[in-house]
Amino acid sequence: MAAQILDGKEIAGKLGEQVRAEVKAFTAKHGVTPMLTVVIVGEDPASKVYVASKHKTCVELGMKSEVVRLSETATEEELLAVIDRLNADPLNHGILVQLPVPKHIDSEKVLERIRPDKDVDGFHPVNVGKLSIGKEHLVPCTPYGVIKMLEISGISVAGKNAVVIGRSNIVGKPMAALLLSRSATVTVTHSKTKDLASVCAQADILVAAIGKPEFVTKDMIKPGAVVIDVGINRLPTGKLVGDVKFDEASEVAGYITPVPGGVGPLTIAMLMYNTLRAAELQLQN
Ligand code: NDP
Repeated sequence: MAAQILDGKEIAGKLGEQVRAEVKAFTAKHGVTPMLTVVIVGEDPASKVYVASKHKTCVELGMKSEVVRLSETATEEELLAVIDRLNADPLNHGILVQLPVPKHIDSEKVLERIRPDKDVDGFHPVNVGKLSIGKEHLVPCTPYGVIKMLEISGISVAGKNAVVIGRSNIVGKPMAALLLSRSATVTVTHSKTKDLASVCAQADILVAAIGKPEFVTKDMIKPGAVVIDVGINRLPTGKLVGDVKFDEASEVAGYITPVPGGVGPLTIAMLMYNTLRAAELQLQN
C-alpha cells in the first residue's frame, strides 16, 4: 500500500493560522507587535529568495518585518554593529542573519553576538545548551518543524526507534535532541556510520538530512516507517529532489514527506512561531 503523504504546505498553513491568532492577541494585550529583522550580506540569489519569503510571511501573519541589506564587502565590524543595534532595540524581537555570510566574516562570531532571547534561528550556544538539557527556549526551525509536523499528524514518538541521518548543528543534532526529549530511542548516523542501510532499516521514524539527492532507497526503510525528508537538492536538470528516492520509498513507508512541499514550508512557519515566542520571552525578562 502506498504511503500516506505528510503535506507540509497544509500543516504549515494550520500553524500559520495559529500564529496569526496569537500575534493578534499579543498585540492587543501588550500594545506591541512582534517584529523580525533579517540581515542579509551580499547578493546570493538563493538567500535573497529566502529573505523575501520570510518578510512576506511575517507581514501576512500580522507581524512587523524589516530587512537590513549590507553589501558583499561589508566588514565583520559593520555586521556586528547592526546586531548590537538590533539587540538593544526594544521594538525588534527577533534577529536572523541569513547564512551563508561572505567568507571574510566569521559566522560563529556573528551568531554568538545575537542576544539569546532574540535568536529566532536557535543557533546561539545558550539555546543549543538549553535544548540539550531538555529546556526548549528558541529551537532551530527545521527540526522543530519536523516535530510539529509529527504532532499535528498525530504520529507518536515516545518509545519509537528514530534514526537521524546527518549530524549538522542546524538539522541533525537538534533533531536528535528533540526526538530524545520526546522519549524516542535515537540513533544519529553520519558519513562514517558502518552499514547505514541496516541501521536505517530498524527505524520506525527515519529523518534524512544529508544533502545527497535520492540517497535513501527502498531497502533502507522499514515497512510502515515514517520517512521525513529534510533534503533539498537541485539536479542538473533543474528538478528539486530530496535525500530520499520518493517513488520507491513511498511503496514501503507508512508516511512520507514530499520534496518540495514537505519539511520546507514548516521551516518558515516555525520561524514565525519563534519570532512570537521571542517577543513573549522579552516581555518576561
Ligand atoms: P550538512 O552538509 O551540514 O550535513 C550533512 C550531514 O550528512 C553530515 O552530518 C554528514 O556526515 C552526513 N552525510 C553526508 N554523507 C553521508 C553518507 N554518505 N552517509 C551518511 N551520512 C552522510 O547539511 P545540513 O544538515 O545543513 O542539510 C542537510 C540537507 O537538508 C541539505 O539538503 C539541505 O539543503 C537541507 N536543508 C533543508 C532545510 C529545509 O528547510 N527543508 C533547512 C536546512 C537544510 P559527516 O558529519 O560525517 O560529514
